[in-house]
Amino acid sequence: MRIQAAVSRAGQSHPTIEELELEEPRAGEVLVRVVAAGICHTDLYCHAGLGVPIPRPIVLGHEGAGVVEAVGGGVRELAVGDHVVLSGASCGECPKCRAGRPTYCRDAMKLSFGGQRADGSSPLSQGGERVHGMFFAQSSFATHLVAPARSAVKVSKDLPLRLLGPLGCGIITGAGSVLEAFRLRPGESIVVFGVGSVGLAAVMAARIAGASRIVAVDVSAERLRLARELGATHAIPSDDKTAGALREIGCDGFTFSFNTTSAAEVFALAADCLAMEGTAGFVTRPRGGWTPDMATLLASGRKLQGILGGSAAPKVLIPLMIDYWREGRFPFDRLVAEFSFAQIGEAWKACTEGAVVKPVLVMAPRP
Ligand SMILES: [Zn+2]
Ligand SMILES: [Zn+2]
Repeated sequence: MRIQAAVSRAGQSHPTIEELELEEPRAGEVLVRVVAAGICHTDLYCHAGLGVPIPRPIVLGHEGAGVVEAVGGGVRELAVGDHVVLSGASCGECPKCRAGRPTYCRDAMKLSFGGQRADGSSPLSQGGERVHGMFFAQSSFATHLVAPARSAVKVSKDLPLRLLGPLGCGIITGAGSVLEAFRLRPGESIVVFGVGSVGLAAVMAARIAGASRIVAVDVSAERLRLARELGATHAIPSDDKTAGALREIGCDGFTFSFNTTSAAEVFALAADCLAMEGTAGFVTRPRGGWTPDMATLLASGRKLQGILGGSAAPKVLIPLMIDYWREGRFPFDRLVAEFSFAQIGEAWKACTEGAVVKPVLVMAPRP
């Protein structure tokens, strides 16, 4: 079928909408009409050539939500008309996949960034020329996509699909880090460095989990205000006084720190602010590198913990986050700013500049 998709080509400031051909879903896959797709910083980095190397031309996008329009052979868990939120790529067969921890699938990197299925094919083309797809098993900056049924999470039809895409990456990364990776318990404390969509999801999850102190640290006064509204007990600016302010609030240090930034000095601060046996979680690499102080880590029993996708099982945590949202305890919709698909350039710019927390492209707004 012919579809509209935003194609990432080298040298362009943002992906631009073109007409492509999309294959029928193969065995184990579903065809999804995309209702909306969030833009994540991984999309920005990959488009700019700064992240994991990707083949081009490629259709990016990995926070899609939509409606199943066709199912391939052997798909039993989904049917035409089902509403789905798409999550990340996994093989479904390795030990971590079988244990319900697909973000640590042994093939996750290859399947997420390779621009193709495991067998080397791409469902996308243009005039007979290959266009790479299957980015995070999605390529959701498009009106339609095919995805493995395994990565699609069925949701209730009474939910606003146009809001739900970011649950599949940014929001689950923040909430999962607190609820799954840290398993934060009531009375424990946390510092969240960087309160974009991932950090704010962590703040909301920490409140749900019963954290005693939830400290938000950011350079933006506006985002710190939002963090307070969403559950942070303290909000402090990121500057040369941050370390002192954290010592004052934390006394003997914090149970957890959660670093969503790539600033090397924040990695140091995130390790230093911990209590004895505290854990510093991080979701991206330190820009320019950072060497941990191993002697201090040893003497304090502190841990550094890399976290991908919140270490979560999307089929468990996405429905749970939706339940919390329905109860008014997890208002992630406050992070979302909608743009039409045609406004992808504006949305890209707003995301790059941090003007909005979570831009979402709405593919085909319906009355
Ligand atoms: Zn992402
Ligand atoms: Zn796997």
